[in-house]
Amino acid sequence: MLEALKQKVYEANMLLPRYGLVTFTWGNVSAIDEERKYFVIKPSGVEYEKLRPEDMVVMDLEGNRVEGRLNPSSDTPTHLELYKAFPEIGGVVHTHSSYATSWAQAGRSIPCYGTTHADYIYGEVPCLRCLTKEEIDEAYEANTGHLIVNEFKKMNKEIMAVPAVLCKNHGPFAWGKDAADAVHNAVVLEEVAKMAYRAELINPEIEPAPQELQDKHYYRKHGANAYYGQQ
Ligand code: 13P
Repeated sequence: MLEALKQKVYEANMLLPRYGLVTFTWGNVSAIDEERKYFVIKPSGVEYEKLRPEDMVVMDLEGNRVEGRLNPSSDTPTHLELYKAFPEIGGVVHTHSSYATSWAQAGRSIPCYGTTHADYIYGEVPCLRCLTKEEIDEAYEANTGHLIVNEFKKMNKEIMAVPAVLCKNHGPFAWGKDAADAVHNAVVLEEVAKMAYRAELINPEIEPAPQELQDKHYYRKHGANAYYGQQ
């Protein structure tokens, strides 16, 4: 079932090593089907060189494995919570990419220092709190998803305007309209994290980019009045 989606999710997973976002078996990509009944995700702990499209695991939204011989990614419950909460999300990525993970480990949100960031992400990339001992013991991965969902709702952030988050002491999750778009955002996040780190080194007194510049860049690419690119 969902052979075309398995192929897309496989290809999106293979983009992670290609863009240097993963080491060993770290990271995972999933995507949900059009009817939002099932999602397809990478199997857990399989080397990227050995992955095949038919190894992708099909899950339902109750968290049951519907098809696939291999265990789904350990982060599957986090992906699931994002799909359940946000109908706009079609694909989810988790990586341990170095720069984004460094910000996550430092417990810092990534300020918007320039237009590279503003072109894709409206405002800072939030770094959320670490889970409590109870949350970790009870259902670590699902509670990671609940935390992301609850914090985005609390911050009143539009989920597609801020397509990435940092989980403190852990790493980034990114999302998009499909698997490839989610990987695109994960690549942007890593570049933005690297640039922000270097910008702070070059100038420790740095301030976020002016709001009007952030608005200009974000809204020329997104929303009703976007004019970037071709029609
Ligand atoms: P999986 O191989 O189970 O997807 O785990 C990768 C990872 O990065 C865990 O955080």
